[in-house]
Amino acid sequence: MNIVLLGPPGAGKGTQAKRIEKALGLVQLSTGDMLRAAVAAGTEVGLKAKAVMEAGKLVSDDILIGMIAERIGEPDCKNGFILDGFPRTVAQAEALDAMLKARGYKLDHCIEMRVDDAALVARISGRYSCKNCGAVYHDQTRPTRVAGTCDSCGSKDLLRRPDDKAETVAARLKAYHEQTAPIIPYYRDHGALRSVDGMADMDAVTGELSKLLGKPIAAV
Ligand code: ADP
Ligand code: ADP
Ligand code: ZN
Repeated sequence: MNIVLLGPPGAGKGTQAKRIEKALGLVQLSTGDMLRAAVAAGTEVGLKAKAVMEAGKLVSDDILIGMIAERIGEPDCKNGFILDGFPRTVAQAEALDAMLKARGYKLDHCIEMRVDDAALVARISGRYSCKNCGAVYHDQTRPTRVAGTCDSCGSKDLLRRPDDKAETVAARLKAYHEQTAPIIPYYRDHGALRSVDGMADMDAVTGELSKLLGKPIAAV
């Protein structure tokens, strides 16, 4: 099963993608995580992407399309994947269609997670994650059980993203509304787009996704 999760920054894509990954044995392809890894490794892509990400803008389509084209060619994607953070422009959506077709893959589900801008600001400002395993937490809505320690792997290496500051969030929401929101009508016309109420609490959102995908998904 291949899934696209759409939604603005902070909508809960990563949180839900991790649950789906675990429950359905799919691989989560987060372009934000891939870019952050490239920045940390100081690769050519990382050097190009760093300042753009810190400014809350979108990295170029060429870079992203190349990155995903390469990634979905890897063997683990044969069992199915969840795209989290890609596509983010109509050009990326079109390129995705072409690359899926070329590999004989199809998109089984495209799900939009709807969340108000005001809630997104609160979510992004309170977000932190585990450097070791990628588990995502929130100061108010999803704190670690033991302060400073990851629930999933026990690591104490918890961090906040440099672009999760109030100043950058406004730029990211602007990029979403101007460049990413137009892919919603694209998927409405080209595929079966469905939506979930991303304002609901995390476990309720997981329940909705489980219904849409027709598979049980544990809320962990
Ligand atoms: P995205 O990948 O779409 O940017 P995340 O999954 O990282 O979003 O979630 C953003 C922040 O909001 C995280 O701190 C996460 O713990 C929190 N969060 C996710 N889903 C919900 C929800 N349904 N209700 C409240 N907070 C949430
Ligand atoms: P979010 O939590 O906002 O959904 P991500 O982790 O998906 O954030 O992305 C972080 C940043 O990485 C984005 O603000 C953007 O600069 C860059 N990025 C990630 N995916 C893409 C993409 N598909 N196209 C362009 N830029 C991207
Ligand atoms: Zn961890």
